Amino acid sequence: MFISISFSLVIFRLINTEIIRFVQTQNLRSQLRPQMLPPPPIDLDLINEVRRHLANSLLVINGTIFLVSGGLSYFLAGKTLKPIKDMVDEQNQFVSDSSHELRTPLTSLKSAFEVNLRDPEFNLKQAKTLIHESIDEVNKLQSLSDQLLLLAQFQKPNHYVNFESISLRKIILKSINQVKPLAKVKNISLKNKIHEYQIEANPYNLTELFVILLDNAIKYSPKNKKIEITSQKIDHTILINFRDQGVGISKKDLPHIFDRFYRADTARSKQGKNGFGLGLSIAQKIVQQHKGSINVTSIPGEGSLFTVKLPQKQLP
Ligand code: ADP
Repeated sequence: MFISISFSLVIFRLINTEIIRFVQTQNLRSQLRPQMLPPPPIDLDLINEVRRHLANSLLVINGTIFLVSGGLSYFLAGKTLKPIKDMVDEQNQFVSDSSHELRTPLTSLKSAFEVNLRDPEFNLKQAKTLIHESIDEVNKLQSLSDQLLLLAQFQKPNHYVNFESISLRKIILKSINQVKPLAKVKNISLKNKIHEYQIEANPYNLTELFVILLDNAIKYSPKNKKIEITSQKIDHTILINFRDQGVGISKKDLPHIFDRFYRADTARSKQGKNGFGLGLSIAQKIVQQHKGSINVTSIPGEGSLFTVKLPQKQLP
């Protein structure tokens, strides 16, 4: 606007000077050559009219520039700020969800301590039981804070991750070893039918992803079932399938299971407090980080199939 107004003033001054010069030249001409035919009389009204017209045009031009540039700035500022606003909203939601999840177990721990402290007949045996239960709760809290930290890391806008060429089979074997003790408790067999592929990925995060999917498959399967891990290559994409014979996921829950803190009703009622509904959102972030995708199909009562698709090579 400053540039436009300055320009307009300059234009107005220049044209005004030009008009004055024209009038003066005409006057001078008639004084110097009185014998010649006098020039036509100068119409001062016309000159003032020209000036007014010029001023009005400049005002209209500036007004239009003001409206167009103002509207455009407003639109562009909104567009530029939207991702920042979304990020701040997301952060706020994250903080409030996390505080809520942390508060619940802390409150139950606090009340258990307070109630037992007030009991005059509270004996050593009961105290030991309370300590054991509290350690379980603290372990869960620790796992929650670890998962929250991991999620927060993925939310950083310029989170750097190192990719290297790794053996998919090795990563799957490593993940299976981590969940083997859990499978053993429920007598669940883990069938590894993964082919040997070299894949460009972050070994730590990929192990984390497979452990989450295997851990869920075990957690949501009854005893004596089977979990099958298979792989397939289509063009330059590797598909890794995790098929279980567990409780399955209802149609109503399927669209939400990757949401933060979402737990299906079956998970809440049948498995007690195991899990915070963060595993699959972390899994999805890892897959996105590797420019892949994750899909699920499930039949309640029969089992679920999670398919991870990963590009064999990470494009720069
Ligand atoms: P959680 O800590 O509750 O396991 P997740 O984010 O890993 O959290 O999973 C979200 C929800 O998706 C679970 O609460 C469960 O209802 C459902 N789910 C995930 N994996 C399976 C599976 N293999 N079989 C059945 N339900 C599953």
